[in-house]
Amino acid sequence: MRTAWVRSLAVTVVGAVPALVLGVLVGPAWGWALFAAVLLLQCVAGLRYLARLDEWSRHPSPTQTLEGAGIWDEIFARLHRHERELRGQIARRDLDLRQVAAAGQAIVDGIVTLDADGRIGWCNRTAERQLGLDLRSDRGQPIANLVRQPAFVAYLAAGDFARPLRLHAVRNEERVLSIHILPYAGGDRLMQVRDVTQSERLDHMRRDFVANVSHELRTPLTVLSGFLETVRELPLEPDERDRYLALMAEQSDRMQRIVQDLLTLSTLESSPPPPENARVGMAELLDKLQRDAEALSAGRHTITLSVDAGDLLGAESELTSAFGNLVSNAVRYTPAGGHIAIAWRRLGSSAEFSVTDDGLGIDPAHIPRLTERFYRADLGRSRESGGTGLGLAIVKHALSRHQARLDIVSAPGRGSRFSALFPPARLTA
Ligand code: ADP
Repeated sequence: MRTAWVRSLAVTVVGAVPALVLGVLVGPAWGWALFAAVLLLQCVAGLRYLARLDEWSRHPSPTQTLEGAGIWDEIFARLHRHERELRGQIARRDLDLRQVAAAGQAIVDGIVTLDADGRIGWCNRTAERQLGLDLRSDRGQPIANLVRQPAFVAYLAAGDFARPLRLHAVRNEERVLSIHILPYAGGDRLMQVRDVTQSERLDHMRRDFVANVSHELRTPLTVLSGFLETVRELPLEPDERDRYLALMAEQSDRMQRIVQDLLTLSTLESSPPPPENARVGMAELLDKLQRDAEALSAGRHTITLSVDAGDLLGAESELTSAFGNLVSNAVRYTPAGGHIAIAWRRLGSSAEFSVTDDGLGIDPAHIPRLTERFYRADLGRSRESGGTGLGLAIVKHALSRHQARLDIVSAPGRGSRFSALFPPARLTA
């Protein structure tokens, strides 16, 4: 800078020397005239560069470079350097902003930034969907004008965000949202919108399940303790006493079956997937199944077995439990004299296990819910025949772990067909 200044001054001084010489030799007026001419030239050059700078500053462009001489050249070079640096900084900030926005879009939760007055600064697409917003038109709008559920408006107005707010999604009442508001950067706030529909549903199911288990166990337990008191406190005849003891044993068997089925379900839920290469000998398994069914039926039914496919790959205990439940249901829900057909057959490259009976059948309204825990189409019949209401839940679970699906076809009074189709990957060659 200083050198440019000195150089500029030197040009003026050098211009003054010939003017001085001319003034001494020819006369001071000529000397002053020459000096004035040198200054004028310097001024004209300066004005030209100033005009260029004025023009460029109106539309600064990195491609158009300013050229000048002396101090002007250095000023122009510095301006260009500064401008390049600024453009670089802006490009880097742009990139940062784009990355932050992309990260905001990648977050599974809805995100909305709000200023101190609750106006929307930015939101991701998930939040747009959850809250029915459109960032292009809603930016800068107070969110309370757009999400108008009274609970949300009151929550925002109260300003106490220690606990999240539960809210139903704006355009989809079935979805439940949990809204957290976190203050950041002065008065600004970050609103996080989490879809908790699934966890609410699971919570609900868990509560229902605990209530159902308690209810299922309480009934036999009440009966049991009632009999126990009677046996302990009343002088009973031996045969009367034996009858009470038999009834007590029945209730304790019932509780044992419920607990056993619950344990089976919990094992199915927590154990690793069934092996894909362990062969389950179907001929022996089905043979035993038929013998067990005959024992349960005690000669009241005709039970046939047809085996027309090879072995399965999977967990023997799970498959035995699934098939066993289907066969014992057929026996329990088919009146004496009925027929039960167990079949294992190839269907293309897959294979199907089925149990068909000509028993009571099921009303179509119950079919979609039969695999729910403790769901019974006929409560009296289920209890009377020793059912826990968990059998088909176990069947569904065990089958799905082997990539098979339970299919139910039934008509009241005509009978039922329960089947499971196993994919080729679960069959031996
Ligand atoms: P449960 O222990 O009560 O038999 P399941 O889960 O095995 O429970 O079956 C659920 C309900 O499905 C039963 O209560 C019964 O109403 C109905 N069901 C199951 N299998 C049959 C069948 N073969 N015929 C008629 N109804 C059946």
